[in-house]
Amino acid sequence: SLTQSKYRRVLLKLSGEALMGDGNFGIDPKVLNRMALEIGQLVGIGVQVGLVVGGGNLFRGASLQAAGMDRVTGDHMGMLATVMNSLAMRDALERSNITTRIMSAIPMSGIVEHYDRRRAIRDLREGDVVIFCAGTGNPFFTTDSAACLRGIEVDADCVLKATKVDGVFSADPMQYPDAKKYDRLTYDEVLDKKLGVMDLTAICLCRDHGMPVRVFNMNKAGALTKIVLGEDEGTLIER
Ligand code: UDP
Repeated sequence: SLTQSKYRRVLLKLSGEALMGDGNFGIDPKVLNRMALEIGQLVGIGVQVGLVVGGGNLFRGASLQAAGMDRVTGDHMGMLATVMNSLAMRDALERSNITTRIMSAIPMSGIVEHYDRRRAIRDLREGDVVIFCAGTGNPFFTTDSAACLRGIEVDADCVLKATKVDGVFSADPMQYPDAKKYDRLTYDEVLDKKLGVMDLTAICLCRDHGMPVRVFNMNKAGALTKIVLGEDEGTLIER
């Protein structure tokens, strides 16, 4: 029941890359189903879930620019990629009987709703999962910034950033096995130590508005549920 959960409303950020599974491009339906299961557990205990899905499995503006494309055009492609990922995520959630809405920062009549903050809050209150797609709608931003922005706008209790590792480390744990994991960090420590958790815009936004961020391993079954129940999983970033 709701009384046992620490959080009433969370904003979960999934990277596009997480949706690839073992592949190196596109979307793995098996991964979507697993994520839907994890998200369904939160909904089941009465936690309101806002979701932002990245697009890096399909397109990234910066990579397209490096290959010679105009940056803004590349960013537009990246934002459209998040719409495709969000459609796939909604499909998986609804197959698991979780009512889901998609709201896009870029109007796309006939495919998804246009973002409306008050409506999003109403839908969250009713228990629908709300996926915020097309990032912030602006080039030169990331979906991490979009997640923090929407989290602050809809008054989420916490931004939960899903990664492939157990939290924030002193160095990349994939490369340096003896890297130290942090249980807790302040926003300023993240900035001072130049820990590549999220881009600076996203961290500064959270710092300025006191939005806690928890970085955790989405590949660890049940980790998401543990977090909303108040257990110490991953790394908490706060003041
Ligand atoms: N993007 C953008 N503005 C936004 C959010 C995203 O222009 O507000 C573009 C940007 O090109 C980015 C791409 O969409 O590289 C995909 O998002 P991101 O790289 O954040 O996805 P993730 O790394 O989470 O998969």
